[in-house]
Amino acid sequence: MNKNLYSIRMRAAQGGPHECGGKHISGAERIVKEKEIMDTIRQLIYRAQQHERGYPDYINLNIEMLNTENIREVTSLPIYTIKTTNYFEGREMAKKILELLGINRTIIEQSFHHLLQGPAPNGANMRGAILMDIKTGQRLEPDLSRGIRVSRIDYKPEAARELAHQLSRYGLNNNHVREALCLATKVSLFPAIVGELCWSDDPSYTAGYVASSKFGYLRFNHLKEKGSARGGRIFFVDPACSELEKTIYRLEQEPYLITKLGKVNGEITYDDFKQIAHSALKGASK
Ligand code: AMP
Repeated sequence: MNKNLYSIRMRAAQGGPHECGGKHISGAERIVKEKEIMDTIRQLIYRAQQHERGYPDYINLNIEMLNTENIREVTSLPIYTIKTTNYFEGREMAKKILELLGINRTIIEQSFHHLLQGPAPNGANMRGAILMDIKTGQRLEPDLSRGIRVSRIDYKPEAARELAHQLSRYGLNNNHVREALCLATKVSLFPAIVGELCWSDDPSYTAGYVASSKFGYLRFNHLKEKGSARGGRIFFVDPACSELEKTIYRLEQEPYLITKLGKVNGEITYDDFKQIAHSALKGASK
């Protein structure tokens, strides 16, 4: 039983609060014990102030005790890095994988267009994710500037330590990978969402991923050009799911803690991935 756990959420912006048009700088999610609250707050404020996207003049911290009975304990997605030499190659592979998830090419091209143009209506980045209908390409998030923010997520300390150890073997032990894996794991557990596409808006971070319950967390070291501040997340929604409002509520509100780790793998080729996909799809059709 998890005793007295608290969700701590940080979001930072420049030019005023996000709601008043401020530019999103950074955000983070933690679930910690009561005695860790002060240290965590310090770390999160430090992090907001050190961000490469700029110095924030607005930092919002939210601290909330969780009802521990509602916390879902889950296993993280398996991770693979698919070998790429440049972002053209990475994007083409990501598109092919999204096709294998049942999304047609026109919709996939539209999703890339959103991330490349700046997904908010004013061409800026969003602080949350786009929800995209995989049949029509329609955007389903109620607020097109904010998007859907996946919240109340973290690792149990033992799982976090083990993950850091495993990722270090491949030079991947950084906030980007740890936090994206945590978010993607929660998202993958919702049947309404067939897959996720993400690359960061941090100019120096060119990696990105396609994640799904079917194939796991598939990283590419190159999904965007270095120096670009355009990035975002797209959750691809199966329109057959009639419970979208409930899914949005759960993504934002329901606490998830990763207590066990899926396998952390090193680099594989696209051909290796095809073998993995073949077995996953064969298993799913049984
Ligand atoms: P990051 O990987 O933190 O650089 O974030 C890349 C993009 O993903 C951001 O610009 C947001 O649009 C989106 N994003 C970041 N955090 C979340 C979150 N907690 N839930 C949904 N989308 C997010």
